[in-house]
Amino acid sequence: MNNKTVWNKYTKKQNDELEAFATSYRAFISDCKTERECTDYIVNELEDGGFKELSKVIASKRKLKAGDKVYAVNKNKGVIAFFIGKEPLENGMNILGAHIDSPRLDVKQNPLYEDTGIAYLDTHYYGGIKKYQWVTIPLAIHGVVVKKDLTTTIINLGEEEDDPVFFISDLLIHLSQEQLEKKAAKVIEGEALDIVIGSKPIAQPKTAKAKEDAEEKEAVKKSVLALLKEYYDMDEEDFLSAELEIVPAGKARDCGLDRSMIMGYGHDDKSCAYPSFRAILDTPAVNKTACCILVDKEEIGSVGATGMTSLFFENTVAEILNLTGSLSDITLRRCLANSNMLSSDVSSAFDPSYASSFDKKNVAYLGRGMVLCKFTGARGKSGSNDADAEYLGKLRQIFDQDKVQIQLAELGRVDLGGGGTIAYILAKYGMNVIDCGVAVLNMHAPMEVISKADIYETYRGYLSFLKNM
Ligand code: MN
Ligand code: MN
Repeated sequence: MNNKTVWNKYTKKQNDELEAFATSYRAFISDCKTERECTDYIVNELEDGGFKELSKVIASKRKLKAGDKVYAVNKNKGVIAFFIGKEPLENGMNILGAHIDSPRLDVKQNPLYEDTGIAYLDTHYYGGIKKYQWVTIPLAIHGVVVKKDLTTTIINLGEEEDDPVFFISDLLIHLSQEQLEKKAAKVIEGEALDIVIGSKPIAQPKTAKAKEDAEEKEAVKKSVLALLKEYYDMDEEDFLSAELEIVPAGKARDCGLDRSMIMGYGHDDKSCAYPSFRAILDTPAVNKTACCILVDKEEIGSVGATGMTSLFFENTVAEILNLTGSLSDITLRRCLANSNMLSSDVSSAFDPSYASSFDKKNVAYLGRGMVLCKFTGARGKSGSNDADAEYLGKLRQIFDQDKVQIQLAELGRVDLGGGGTIAYILAKYGMNVIDCGVAVLNMHAPMEVISKADIYETYRGYLSFLKNM
């Protein structure tokens, strides 16, 4: 069933479009590694595309009508965009929903310490990672520091050619006899994921008295603090109100001699977030209102004010209904229940090197098109949103019409593990929801890999969905 490559079906024009799309996506994930950076970038794109900020529309006392475009930002970590359709909102919306957070290491609130002449930042990992994959690779620091006077300093260090990078050390192979006996989950422990941030002591005053003194205590940490003061005007206690994320340093790259793939950090779920907001930007007109949800905290269970389980989405839809002059409890409920959603999230790509972990008949393949997952979950579909056959039938019909190639897949072999997405949260409203996105190799590794053809086909699929549903 999932046995056709998508590469051979494209015209010359489509091939050029595919390359252009892949190039702009590669630039996006190279620059936008955190949910805040994604939000900034996407807001700029939406503004350029004629979308207006919701609070400004509310303040202007203007009503919304068909053809209007609005967006709302949630605490700088998520965006929801709407393209108002000709049909009443009560009839429901066509929703593309993806997440813009990715697995990483978060700096703790009291992170800085020195041990034996090396200064470290202590971290707590975020999302599901194989910890041993994060040692000995160049790392960058992205995030914000909010000081007590409420000024915010943005930090992005480790990405430019002449920026310094950071790393987590690993034991040399020569002495690893005992370490290599350990289980892979224990080889590198969570508490050992501390990044090296400096090794040079602060300069001593060259007085006779100072020379007599023993070396200054924590001189390397003091030097790091002096540099933080110099570069960012921050003190040690400013870490208390900072959000600093440690991510792999460097840009995403074309991959393979044929340049058919992209290797980079954060394909989960930026490879679905990008085609989602590009689709709502590029769609010329819609009958049903189009909605694009880009949300934070999916990797840790969609919790908190910026996760999908927060009421931000529902509240924003209520605001939109209010601005179209049709808000009531019942119209809000109808709008949500009558909606269709593609929960835009990545799926696993079949990996021939680990063939036995997959069911070859029911797995996605690199380069074979957009992936639909009827259900996710684990141990007997537990925790899954299980999309209706009727909804799947309708989607097959529209994708067929627009010659969008799809593949139906599960994450892996039954009872081997599993995963979840934001699908089940939206399904609670009674709307049609299915997981739909791009197949990824090495999911959740510092460097993940996707096929350029798959992300392009997914973009085509999202456009078809907004146009036809
Ligand atoms: Mn995901
Ligand atoms: Mn994930």
